Amino acid sequence: MGVDQVGAGDHGARWNTGRVGYLDPMTTTTAPEEQRILDQVPKQLFIGGRWRDGSKGTLSVEDPATGDSLCEVADASADDAKAALEAAVETGPEWASHPPRERGEILRRAFEAIVSRADELALLMTLEMGKPLKESKAEITYGAEFLRWFSEQAVRIDGRYAVAPNGQGRLLTMKQPVGPCLLITPWNFPLAMGTRKIGPAIAAGCTMVVKPAQQTPLSMLMLARILEEAGLPAGVLNLITASSASESTGPLINDSRLRKLSFTGSTEVGRKLMEQASQNLLRLSMELGGNAPFLVFDDADLDAAVQGALIAKMRNIGEACTAANRFHVADSVAEQFAEKLAEKMGSMKVGRGTEDGVEVGPLIDQNQREKVEGLVNQAVGAGARILVGGQARDGAGYFYDPTVLTDIPEDAELLREEIFGPVAPVKGFSDEDEAIAAANNTEFGLVAYVFTRDLKRALRVVERLETGMVGLNQGMVSNPAAPFGGIKQSGFGREGGPEGIEEYLETKYVAVNL
Ligand code: NAP
Repeated sequence: MGVDQVGAGDHGARWNTGRVGYLDPMTTTTAPEEQRILDQVPKQLFIGGRWRDGSKGTLSVEDPATGDSLCEVADASADDAKAALEAAVETGPEWASHPPRERGEILRRAFEAIVSRADELALLMTLEMGKPLKESKAEITYGAEFLRWFSEQAVRIDGRYAVAPNGQGRLLTMKQPVGPCLLITPWNFPLAMGTRKIGPAIAAGCTMVVKPAQQTPLSMLMLARILEEAGLPAGVLNLITASSASESTGPLINDSRLRKLSFTGSTEVGRKLMEQASQNLLRLSMELGGNAPFLVFDDADLDAAVQGALIAKMRNIGEACTAANRFHVADSVAEQFAEKLAEKMGSMKVGRGTEDGVEVGPLIDQNQREKVEGLVNQAVGAGARILVGGQARDGAGYFYDPTVLTDIPEDAELLREEIFGPVAPVKGFSDEDEAIAAANNTEFGLVAYVFTRDLKRALRVVERLETGMVGLNQGMVSNPAAPFGGIKQSGFGREGGPEGIEEYLETKYVAVNL
């Protein structure tokens, strides 16, 4: 795929064609191809520009479609993590004064390298995370786009010059990098959750320690190698993989030389990290859990709503913070909507993401599958009706059938908890106020989806939704050129867009005496 074919808008447009995972068709991969890409991944820690072993030995990375080990990667101790911070601190001043144009060009070269290797990187991602190849390729494109976007932002960091209100002094402001950052990412988007942080940090002139999720470290290890090859100076990006996140990152959060923590993951862990970070008064970005409502009004184009629902629900096997968690549909069309959605979801091919035509891969692990099973069973026990699916698959891997539920009782836990799986509960509403009240009835506030053809209603509803983002007549909001982030218990801070780089910049004000 050529560089010009992967614009951010392009990515969104592909998803919005309706079929989940719509991209160029790929064929089933072979074991030797899989081994070849696994062999290419550096499996050590990357500290101060050197690849080195972890002091605690290694940890295993599993294929969630089979439960088999794919390979071993280095397991970092607290001392390894401190060495990574040391390297980031040492490199900080030089990197902060590095020409912004060169910082941008390194990102641009990395973007091009990722795009030129999109197929093999997609295969690697599917092996460690499970999603179908076509979806992995979409994430590679999306993830790379953050590097391109922030390569362009690197040269647009500026300040202000103003006359003081009394006319006597001058007010000067300048933007400076916040300093060494700790970036912690989850397993569900193994590359893009990294590039959303690494892109702006590099562009702003920050150095960093990156800690990917232990279940999916391979994509990030490859990214570190790509950035190294793109000319990123030693010590700017340091990467540790670890079997104990708290043991390795805890000492860094308490180290006064660290200036910022950017975290993407669960609200539960986010809260703990905020508490820890309070000792050091760290700058924080918190991209946390979601519980997205998907509203369909009676005037909506129902087929478009079903297509949007498929994307919002089934992208990433339902394991996305932006996944539609609950469908609130006008009473007059709720049954029809649920049946159409059940027909589409019931016909999706479930299997290992490397197989041709597969649209639904395995869940990440047995814990996640048990959580999904538990939520469905609780809802059914309380009176919900299964239209399609409703069970785990026998055999190897952590597969769960695409599921649509109706007659959802008010006390169903899945209305309040993040499901993180291929389960769509459909519940009716009688009017606009009831729909909005239901949508906002959650501690989370990441994203909501609204389907209506009435412009006045659309704007009325959008203004009253308590979320950081809204998909209006579309089932996907992610776009590197837009500010991604939530409110309430979904956290704070924005990734992407012009706002994204601000998270890595401090404002210094100079009072000028004339
Ligand atoms: P998680 O359990 O919170 O873990 C996220 C990351 O934090 C992993 O790297 C994990 O390391 C690390 N971690 C866990 N406990 C830690 C501790 N005590 N100290 C320091 N680091 C710690 O979340 P997850 O299960 O990987 O990801 C799913 C969650 O992420 C969902 O809630 C989803 O909504 C959210 N998410 C949010 C966004 C967003 O932009 N808002 C995007 C994607 C995902 P280990 O791998 O070693 O546990």
